[in-house]
Amino acid sequence: MSSYVQKLMAEVKSKNAAEQEFHEAVKNVAESLDPVLERYPQYRQAMVLERIVEPERTITFRISWVDDAGRTHVNRGYRVQMNGAIGPYKGGLRFHPSVNLGILKGLALEQIFKNSLTTLPMGAGYGGADFDPKGKSDREVMRFCQSYMNELFRYIGPNTDIPDGDIGVGGREIGYLFGQYRKLANEFAGVLTGKGLNWSGSLMRSEATGYGVVYFATEMLAARGETLNGKTCLVSGSGKVAQSAIEKLIELGATVVTFSDSSGCVYDPNGMDHDKLEWLKGLKNLRRGHIREFAEKYPSAEYISAEFGGLDENPLWARKADCAFPCATQHEINRTDAENLLRNGVMLVCEGANMPLTPDAMKLLTDRRILYAPGKAANAGGVAVSGLEMAQNSMRYAWTREEVDSRLKIIMKGIHKACLDAAAEFGTPGNVANGANIAGFMKVAGAMMDQGVI
Ligand code: NDP
Repeated sequence: MSSYVQKLMAEVKSKNAAEQEFHEAVKNVAESLDPVLERYPQYRQAMVLERIVEPERTITFRISWVDDAGRTHVNRGYRVQMNGAIGPYKGGLRFHPSVNLGILKGLALEQIFKNSLTTLPMGAGYGGADFDPKGKSDREVMRFCQSYMNELFRYIGPNTDIPDGDIGVGGREIGYLFGQYRKLANEFAGVLTGKGLNWSGSLMRSEATGYGVVYFATEMLAARGETLNGKTCLVSGSGKVAQSAIEKLIELGATVVTFSDSSGCVYDPNGMDHDKLEWLKGLKNLRRGHIREFAEKYPSAEYISAEFGGLDENPLWARKADCAFPCATQHEINRTDAENLLRNGVMLVCEGANMPLTPDAMKLLTDRRILYAPGKAANAGGVAVSGLEMAQNSMRYAWTREEVDSRLKIIMKGIHKACLDAAAEFGTPGNVANGANIAGFMKVAGAMMDQGVI
C-alpha cells in the first residue's frame, strides 16, 4: 500500500469510525487507483479521490409506523447521495435489519464506479432502512413504505435522485413508495425505477441484473474460447438477482446445482429446470417461504440449514463446479469458502451481489488469476436497465423486450471491454476488478475536474 493510500485510509477511518464496510470499499478502490493518481498528479492536487469518498449529502430520518395489532414501531431511514458529477443520484434502497450507515456508504461508493461503467448519465446514491419486511403483512409493509416516503420525497425527483430496489425492496415495495410519492408531490414522475409495467416501468428491469451477470460471465469465458453450455454452476440467494441468473444459466445450457436464502442452502445434483425455477419463484415471491420447502417438494434436492454445524464456511461453496455466482448478500464468501471453490475446480466467480467476497477471499481469487468479476462491473445490468427505464419515462415511450435486452447485452459487453482495456493500460492485464475501478473513476474524475471544486 502506497503512503498516499495509507494516509487516505487513516483519514477515512478516523472520520468514519465503525463503518467497516465503507473502509473496505474505499481501500479496494484506492489501491486500484494508485497508478492512475501517479500518472495524473492533477487528480491528487485537486483531491478528487478525497472528495469522492465524502458523500455529497447524507440524510437520516425517523420512520414511525403502526402494525396490524396497533403497536407503534420506530425505524431509521437513510439516503446517501454520494456523487452527482455525471448525473442525478441513482442507486438502490435496502430494507433489512442489518442496514446501517457504513453498509450504505460502502454500497454508494461502489455505485459511483458501477454507474459510470454503464456509460449512462447516472450519479450514485444508496439508501434504505433497518426494517425487516419478513413476516410483515402487506398492509404493514405499505404503512412502512408510506412513512418512509413521507420523509424521502423531499430529497428525490426525476432530475435529482431516482432510487431503485435492492434486498427487501421489490415490486411490492416500489409500488407503495411510488404511490405515496405521487400523492405527496402531486405528479406522475419517473422518480423510482423498477416500477410496474402498467405504470411506466421498463420491460426486462426485473431480469436485468441476473441476466446481465450471466452476459458478463459469457464475455469472460468467450475471451478464453469457452461458453457456459455444459458448465456446472453454484448460485447463492433465491431473490430477484438469483432467480434471473438461474433462468439465464438454464437457457444457456448450464447446470445450476445450488441456491440459498437466509435460512440455509439447497444442493440439487440434478440441476434446476424451468419447472423447478417457477416453483421456487412462487415460494419466494408470492408465499415468501423458506427454501427448505423446495427440498420437501423435490426429493433429488438436499437442504442444509444455515447453522452449517457451527462451521466457519458455507457448504454451498464446497461443491464440485466450474462457475460460481454469489447473488445473495455481502461477505457471503470468506477465505475458507474461496479455498473450497478453488479446490473444487471453480474457474470463474462472477458477482451478482454487491461486495459478496471478504477482502482476503478476493485477494486469494485474484492472486490465483481465475476469472473474477466484481459486482460493480458484473451486476451493473440492473442499474443500466434502470437508466433505460429513466430514458423511456423521459420520452413517454416504452421499448420492446427485445430492444431493452439487446441494449443490455451491448452495455455488458462494453463494460467487460472497458475493464480489460483499463486493466491492461495500467499494468494489470486481465484483472477485471482493477479495471472496473480505473475505468469507472476516469469518467467521474474528469467530470469533477470540469465542474470545479464544489
Ligand atoms: P432480494 O431481497 O430479492 O434477495 C436477497 C436474497 O439473499 C434472498 O434469497 C435472501 O434470503 C438472501 N439473503 C439476504 N440476506 C442474507 C444473509 N444475511 N444471509 C444469507 N442470505 C441472505 O435481493 P436482490 O436479489 O435484489 O439482491 C441480492 C444482491 O444483489 C444484493 O447484494 C444486492 O445489493 C445486489 N444487487 C441487486 C440488484 C437488483 O437489481 N436487485 C442490482 C445490483 C446488485 P431470504 O429470502 O431468506 O431473505
